[in-house]
Amino acid sequence: MAPIAKVGGLGDVVGGLTKELVKKKIETTVILPKYQNLKIDFLKDLKIYKKKFQIFEKQRWQKNTIYLARLNKVQIYLIEDHKNYFSKPKIYGYKADVTRFLYFCKTVLELLKFQNKTIDILHIHDWHTAVIAPLYKEIYAKDGLKIKKIVLSIHNLKYQGYCKPKDIKNLGFNGRYFLKDEKLKDPKRPRTLNLLKGGLIYSDLIVPVSETYAKEILLLQNEKNLHDVLKENKKKIKGILNGIDWSPKTDRFLRYKFSKDLSLKKLINLKKKNKRHLQKHLNLDLADKPLICSIGRLVYQKGPSLIKKSLITALKNKAQFVLLGDAFDKKIKKQFYKLKNELKNNSNVCILFKHDEMLAHQIFAAADFVIVPSLFEPCGLTQLIGFKYGAIPIVRKTGGLADTVFDLDDKKIKKNQRNGFAFEKFNESLVEKTTKRALSFWYDNNQKFYQLVKKNMKLNFSWQLSASKYIKAYKSLLR
Ligand code: ADP
Repeated sequence: MAPIAKVGGLGDVVGGLTKELVKKKIETTVILPKYQNLKIDFLKDLKIYKKKFQIFEKQRWQKNTIYLARLNKVQIYLIEDHKNYFSKPKIYGYKADVTRFLYFCKTVLELLKFQNKTIDILHIHDWHTAVIAPLYKEIYAKDGLKIKKIVLSIHNLKYQGYCKPKDIKNLGFNGRYFLKDEKLKDPKRPRTLNLLKGGLIYSDLIVPVSETYAKEILLLQNEKNLHDVLKENKKKIKGILNGIDWSPKTDRFLRYKFSKDLSLKKLINLKKKNKRHLQKHLNLDLADKPLICSIGRLVYQKGPSLIKKSLITALKNKAQFVLLGDAFDKKIKKQFYKLKNELKNNSNVCILFKHDEMLAHQIFAAADFVIVPSLFEPCGLTQLIGFKYGAIPIVRKTGGLADTVFDLDDKKIKKNQRNGFAFEKFNESLVEKTTKRALSFWYDNNQKFYQLVKKNMKLNFSWQLSASKYIKAYKSLLR
């Protein structure tokens, strides 16, 4: 839940959506693990809600402390387990992730049962919390807990969460009971449970995070493992595009704030000041050149080979490139380390492997382009942030990228809707061509470039819009 806990887009969504729901007078509560790296300074009124909250796991009663706080008027419960499942440096990325999140899910259900309230909508996200749906319907509903409807958001279907019946047994439930075709049994692994499958079957509404992604996941070539399950539950699927709640007008990380309402001259001036500021900070040449950025988890999905190609193309074509990547994948990290080393004397490029929220904001404000050449992309937030911060997106047409970015030269699209650079096939020569096209636009039509920047900043990808779609969906479920 951004800004207190975030790896990628899921964090932005939980933060942005709940903030907007509260504005629309919906009573909203978030339950999170008390991650070690939680940015507690953002929270208001943090206090202990319940000490020694006991959960039966692995044949023993385990103690938890539950905290209560507020963030943007949203009520938040934080679960601190005494087994140190969540007192680790990262939010996820451990061998024990399944055990950690199963424990969290059971604690959530126990907490809700303890509170003895009727809940209209329980909204769960990805595999990490998907098991809440089957556990509720098979166990807790019969045990007095009242949840009217469960909504499952799919931020990324590639991660499904596998475990053995024994892992469910560790929570004190009959694990083998769930090992059936119509329940959680994985379609390809007969002795394995698939937690996301459980979420798909037992939830009342499935929300992939863009309309195109909602269609893409139904195609066998994109999702082989859960193809049949998705097909059988097709009626429950409804894509809703994410919003963003970033703004360069109020961004606390920016020294030179700017807005869509400024005159073009002032806007250009402030964009350039942001670029100069970043160039100084990252030891780049202080030159008036186009700057391309790439910000994201450095994983296969994000098209690292294409990012690399775009970077090299930029350097060959009088441009600068900044890459800020959270390196999860060792192999990819190694390739980029090699590249970084080869380019260590090049003052037009900066490659950084870390998660740095402040720097991400400053890069978006400084950049002229943001490249997102993903293999698949459920929604994608960086192209939306790009629009808002004056960085024109260069993307591959897939998922949410295809729903939001329209090529300047695409004759099939109305002229006033064209807003960036897009290519279809996942290959290096296309990303090279498209990067060159984008850079030529900057060099040959610089005034038009900034006019497009200003126009894009006015596009509405607000949470106001997306949250009202969610509310409509919640309401129709309750009808
Ligand atoms: P995904 O959810 O697949 O990671 P999205 O494009 O939906 O991708 O969301 C990415 C979000 O995470 C954006 O807000 C982006 O700015 C942020 N982000 C990604 N990598 C980093 C990083 N290394 N440092 C700071 N923020 C990052």
